Amino acid sequence: MTLTEDQQMMVDAIDQICRSIVTDEYSAEIDRVARYPVEVMDALAAQGWAALPVPEEAGGGGASAQDLVVIHETLARHNLVVGQAYFSLWVLGAEAIERLGTPEQKAEWLPRIMEGANVAFALTEPGSGSDAAALRTAAIRDGDDFVVNGSKVFITGAAVSEVIITGVRTSTGGRKQEGITSLMIDPTLPGVDIRKLSKMGLKGLDLCEVFFDNVRVPASAVLGAVDTGWAGMLPGLANERLLLAALSVGALRDLLDRCLVHAQQRESFGKPIAGHQLIAEKLVEMRVAIEANHALTMQAAALVDAGDPDAVNVASMAKLSATRDYISATREAVQIFGGYGFTDEYPVSRHYRDCKYLEIGGGTSEIQKIVIARSMGIRL
Ligand SMILES: Cc1cc2nc3c(=O)[nH]c(=O)nc-3n(C[C@H](O)[C@H](O)[C@H](O)COP(=O)(O)OP(=O)(O)OC[C@H]3O[C@@H](n4cnc5c(N)ncnc54)[C@H](O)[C@@H]3O)c2cc1C
Repeated sequence: MTLTEDQQMMVDAIDQICRSIVTDEYSAEIDRVARYPVEVMDALAAQGWAALPVPEEAGGGGASAQDLVVIHETLARHNLVVGQAYFSLWVLGAEAIERLGTPEQKAEWLPRIMEGANVAFALTEPGSGSDAAALRTAAIRDGDDFVVNGSKVFITGAAVSEVIITGVRTSTGGRKQEGITSLMIDPTLPGVDIRKLSKMGLKGLDLCEVFFDNVRVPASAVLGAVDTGWAGMLPGLANERLLLAALSVGALRDLLDRCLVHAQQRESFGKPIAGHQLIAEKLVEMRVAIEANHALTMQAAALVDAGDPDAVNVASMAKLSATRDYISATREAVQIFGGYGFTDEYPVSRHYRDCKYLEIGGGTSEIQKIVIARSMGIRL
């Protein structure tokens, strides 16, 4: 990849931290016991990487969208869980609080995020996923508080977060996009119950159900304006597409590295399996997918940085393409490793399990296709 001098320095610095902690043994253990990779996240925060998404005016690193793509690719090349945690728990929250927060909220939360505090984001409910604006968790004003009742599902990192930015319905009767408000809910408040879901992959990052039973949240916890939460969430969700594409490219780089080594060492019929054209073709397809998706993702990021209205559509294309290619590649990678690939002794089996969420979270592939079709003037 072609990087600026600053971006290359970022890659080198993150590589150095990750190489010293995120060994294959470490990643295998995080996966086996399903625990948050606190050591590497703490090390990243200690060296200032949690501050990077925060704007310079607020004391942060002021990373551009292109910088963030490079960082997410680099993290995911070491471990997808680490890259996903970086996005879900630091980037998403910092962006929303910086853009929508009151001076008091920014003063409280941005320094905490820069030190590594986790912020979860809860939109999805049991009855509304792709159709997220149909959410029903209710927040009713009562004096200086809102009283929240309802539940969320598939909330990344809720069990390790200090606050959960939660989409709630504060009024009804209009269009479903109206009457939505974002509340910064302290997960230790009485009436909040968090339960981890068991899942097929990405085991180091919890995925939770969050229940709200008469939770009293102070009105000072409103992020943005009451009843206008939907519009406030959209830029963050668009950013998510871009950075999930970057995570896919980074993880695919790791996969190809591993497949190349194995295919050049493993022999069958008197030569390395890489020398069989059917195996070489799989490796070539991975290489092409990396270059094509990196370029598309960087193009989307450049449009974001330029404030181009088409950025959101190109980010959808990048997410659709990069997640699809990475997921297909994990299947081929297990094939290249043969029986060994089916065991947990080799990281390709973890890639195979971890990757699938990428075409579900952050807007499914079907939803990305709808966004792209609409950008082409197609009425669906
Ligand atoms: C690992 C992971 C992490 C997540 N983290 C978070 C998080 O931190 N916070 C959060 O709020 N949510 C999170 N989610 C939830 C995620 O955003 C939703 O799962 C996603 O939006 C899809 O919603 P759903 O699961 O309810 O599927 P549904 O909306 O029920 O969709 C089911 C299927 O129908 C398809 N479909 C739906 N509508 C259409 C349509 N109009 N046309 C064609 N096909 C359609 C979908 O593409 C999908 O294939 C996470 C999910 C996962 C898997």
